[in-house]
Amino acid sequence: MAKKSSGGQDRCSFCGLTSGEVAMMFRGTDGACICNGCIEHGYHLINDNADQRRPGRLTPIKREELLKPAQIKAFLDQYVIGQDDAKRYMSVAVYNHYKRLMHGQNDPDAAGIELDKSNIVMVGETGTGKTLLARTIAKLLNVPFTIVDATVLTEAGYVGEDVEGILSRLLQVADYDVALAERGIIFIDEIDKIARKGDNPSITRDVSGEGVQQALLKILEGTMVNVPPQGGRKHPDQKFLQVNTKDILFICGGAFDGIEKKIAQRLNTRAVGYGTLGKHGAVDRNNLLRHVSPQDLKSFGLIPELIGRLPVLTYLEPLDRDALRAILTEPKNAIIRQYEKMFELDGIALTIDDAVLDYVVDKAVEYRLGARGLRSICEMVMMDAMFELPSLSKNKFRITLDYARSKVERAAPARLKAVG
Ligand code: ADP
Repeated sequence: MAKKSSGGQDRCSFCGLTSGEVAMMFRGTDGACICNGCIEHGYHLINDNADQRRPGRLTPIKREELLKPAQIKAFLDQYVIGQDDAKRYMSVAVYNHYKRLMHGQNDPDAAGIELDKSNIVMVGETGTGKTLLARTIAKLLNVPFTIVDATVLTEAGYVGEDVEGILSRLLQVADYDVALAERGIIFIDEIDKIARKGDNPSITRDVSGEGVQQALLKILEGTMVNVPPQGGRKHPDQKFLQVNTKDILFICGGAFDGIEKKIAQRLNTRAVGYGTLGKHGAVDRNNLLRHVSPQDLKSFGLIPELIGRLPVLTYLEPLDRDALRAILTEPKNAIIRQYEKMFELDGIALTIDDAVLDYVVDKAVEYRLGARGLRSICEMVMMDAMFELPSLSKNKFRITLDYARSKVERAAPARLKAVG
């Protein structure tokens, strides 16, 4: 029924204002009216609640769809060279994580035995594939994945990013689907940088180290966190989303520079005590990391409570020449394959002599750039060709050792040193 004011004006059926009091009045078929103010108000209400109303993309995990650890490892093998131990640990941890989720969702007796979370910590030099492993796992599982750098984290109230900020990023990736984010994976890089400086607990507050470790504890274990959807500092009138971190898998990585010394010390102590190196037999001094234990993380400066919440500990090997050579050509999206594809899109068949690949590896080793350097060296070799070939009517191009050498020698020393 049309609502009119005593003066004969239309009256908004929602707020009661008359058309003289508002900028615009819309009239419905049965004479009901709505003013522009009420439309705007309604629009904001709908927007603000969109997260709660959006149908979840979360589907229950089915046992038959669960990939077995060996299948997970086979997938990782397609993208990551070597690092067999890390892949095995990771595959089992992820498999167990999903079994744990399933146990919670299907099993009527779930209340009986609670399965603990299998958060992972990886120790290995920079550029050996820690992030790549985590990223590849997330691709396989098709769950939201985010990388955060532990160095920017601070305790709540200090300048920097609050620990809750980590979850804002995951929410963003999950398109604000809270249930989906609650099953995501968070990779915390450079976890070693929040180690306590020195072995003794500090008396004064340690803004960048122990305080952050304490703050991380809770979210690693599983707790309800009020997350500011936009991230950053908390804003008084920002609405929070509640995220439960119970089922979020945390993978931490760090180079832990100098941890070898702690490992050696521990092994030697043991050797003195028992007269042997126990089950390890002879210790390979070049790769002490394979003997890393939670105790070494503690000596390095992680607090025991945090180590306890990262029960899966594994290591990555330094990459040798063979591994670097394989990284160039073998992974599914290997660097060389990417260049071939790029030229193919211009109708050019690219061939690269084997000697060129060895040369690229030599340079990466010479300048101690590791796997990260392979790409920059390849760029130097390819740059001129990528610039010139598209304008020439060529349908094939071969890169020889002399060609590669001339390009790198012209561009290189200063630039390579700058990276290294
Ligand atoms: P980290 O996290 O250990 O510092 P990344 O995973 O970021 O190292 O590795 C840097 C880059 O080097 C990767 O993007 C990848 O191209 C290459 N890379 C490193 N290790 C490997 C590996 N084991 N297999 C294949 N590529 C690798």
